[in-house]
Amino acid sequence: MDTLFRSIDLIEPGDLVLYHGSIESSHGLWLAIPCPCVICQALDEFGVPDLRFALVDPWGELPGPFHVRRASITRSAACA
Ligand SMILES: [Zn+2]
Repeated sequence: MDTLFRSIDLIEPGDLVLYHGSIESSHGLWLAIPCPCVICQALDEFGVPDLRFALVDPWGELPGPFHVRRASITRSAACA
């Protein structure tokens, strides 16, 4: 298994990421987008720097986990 050391890289919307957070059944590759829910948008308007992501299936419409912490995803080298 490859270990990536690019986790300090900024994740931009649409980046391919590897999810390794608390939802084990969702571990794997996803596209990361800013979490679109009202909770996260409200936090953003308050200026809370705790940016959360929503994950979407890059090959379909499968919904992934929401409110994903930055620490739970790693930018994939495959998107370079
Ligand atoms: Zn959210």
